[in-house]
Amino acid sequence: MGGITFTNLTRQVEIGANCYCLDVAGQRLVLDSGLHPRFDGDAALPNHRLIPDGSADAILLSHAHQDHVGSLPVLMRRHPGAPVFMTEATRQLSDVMLHNSVNVMTKKCEEGVTSQPLFTHREVEQAVKRWRPVPLHTRFDVTGERLRADESADVSIEFFDAGHILGSVGTLIRAEGRTIFYTGDIQFDDQSIMQGARFPEHELDVLIIETTRGDRATPEGFTRASEELRLAAAIRAQFDRGAAVLIPLFALGKTQELLAMFHSFRQRGLLGQCPIYIGGLGTKLTEIYDKLAGQTPRQKPNLDLLHAVAPFTMAGKAAAATPLKGGRIYAISSGMMTEKTLSNSFARNVLSDPAHALFFVGYADPLSPAGRIRATAPGGTVQLSPEFPPQPLRCERGEFNFSAHASRESLRAYVNQVRPKKVILVHGDAPAVAWFRSTLSADLPASEILTPTPGVALEL
Ligand SMILES: [Zn+2]
Ligand SMILES: [Zn+2]
Repeated sequence: MGGITFTNLTRQVEIGANCYCLDVAGQRLVLDSGLHPRFDGDAALPNHRLIPDGSADAILLSHAHQDHVGSLPVLMRRHPGAPVFMTEATRQLSDVMLHNSVNVMTKKCEEGVTSQPLFTHREVEQAVKRWRPVPLHTRFDVTGERLRADESADVSIEFFDAGHILGSVGTLIRAEGRTIFYTGDIQFDDQSIMQGARFPEHELDVLIIETTRGDRATPEGFTRASEELRLAAAIRAQFDRGAAVLIPLFALGKTQELLAMFHSFRQRGLLGQCPIYIGGLGTKLTEIYDKLAGQTPRQKPNLDLLHAVAPFTMAGKAAAATPLKGGRIYAISSGMMTEKTLSNSFARNVLSDPAHALFFVGYADPLSPAGRIRATAPGGTVQLSPEFPPQPLRCERGEFNFSAHASRESLRAYVNQVRPKKVILVHGDAPAVAWFRSTLSADLPASEILTPTPGVALEL
C-alpha cells in the first residue's frame, strides 16, 4: 500500500490562511487556499512555495469564506493544469468574494499599504472558468469524471454538506482502500438558515478536522433558541433607551443567518419594523442565498431574505455618510472589524459613546480589532486602526453565541463516532488545538492525534 502524505501549508498554527496538501496514490490534492485577514501582500498568503509549481493534480474548495478561498487565484496561477472542484453555491459565492477582494486590495494599494494587488478582476474572471461545480454525494475522480456506484478510481472524491454556510462541504477522499475526510468548517447544529452537517458516519482512517471552538466549553443549559430570545430582548432594551446597535459580522453566512433570525423575531412579535442596515457585499451575497434557496440543503427554502426583511444597503461613499441613529440595527462587515472595513470605520462613532451599543455574535481572531475590543474592560482604551487615535471604550457591549462552527463537544462526539486511526487538528488557535489534542488522546488511546507543524510533511 502506498503512503499518504499531509503537508500543512499555513504559516502558523492558527485560523489565518488555510491550505493543505495531500499526496495520495500518486495524486497531489490541494485543500483550500485562504488569505489571512490580518496581513497584506505576500504575508497574507499560505506557503504555496512548499510544493513545486505545476505539481497539483486537483484543487478542492470547502467553502467561500476568505480564509479558505482568498488566495485561490494565486494558487491556480502556480498550478495552471489543476481543475478546481466545489459546489455550485460555493462557485457563485466565491466569484463575488474574490472580486470584492480585488476591490479591497486595490484600495489598499492606492493608500500605499501594499505595492500591488495579489490578483486582478481579469484574473478572477479567468479563474472562474476553470471551476468545476460538483453536487453533494456524487463520487468523482481527480479529472472531474463522475464515477458510477460500482466504479472505482485510484482516487475518488465526494462532497458532504458541512452545515456551516451555503455551499460548504466536508470532502471524503477514498484511495488505496483508505478513507480520508477533510471537514472544512463545520456546524453540526441547525442555524437559522443552514441545517446541521450531514457527515459520513462510518469509521474513517484519517480525519482532518477544524478546531475553532476548542478553547471554550459550551455553557451549561445553552441553547440556540434561548440565545435568540436573549438577543431579541437585548436589542429591545437598547432601542428603549434610544440606542443604535452595531453588530459587526461576516458578510457571508452570518449576515444571512441574522436576517433570517430578525425575520423570525418580527413574526413572533419580538422585534418591531426597525430599520436594518447591511453592507454592500452582504447584499450581493444575500441575493445568491435567495436565488439558490430552493436548490441547496437549507431550512426555510421559501424565505426570500431581501424581500421579507427588506434591509437597507450601506455601500460606497453613501456608507460613510449613513447617520448613526437610535432604534436601528447596523449589521455590517467585517466580523473581525478589520481595518478599512465598514464595521471598523463605523465603530469609531460608537465605541466611546455610552448612548449606543456594540454586539458581537461570532468568532474573532484574538488579535483583530474585534478580538482586542472583546478583551478590553469597560473604560479601557482601544485603537481601531492606526489611522485613528486610541479611544476609550464606553458603549454598551453584548456578546452572543451564534457561531457557524461546531461546539467542541459535538466535534469530540463526532471524532469518537468515526474513530479515525489518525486525527489531524487544523483551523484553530493554539489553545483550541491543545484542548483537542489532550482530550482526543485520552478518548482514543489507539489513535494518533496530530498537530501538523506548518511546512513539515506528515507521513500517514
Ligand atoms: Zn468558514
Ligand atoms: Zn474557516
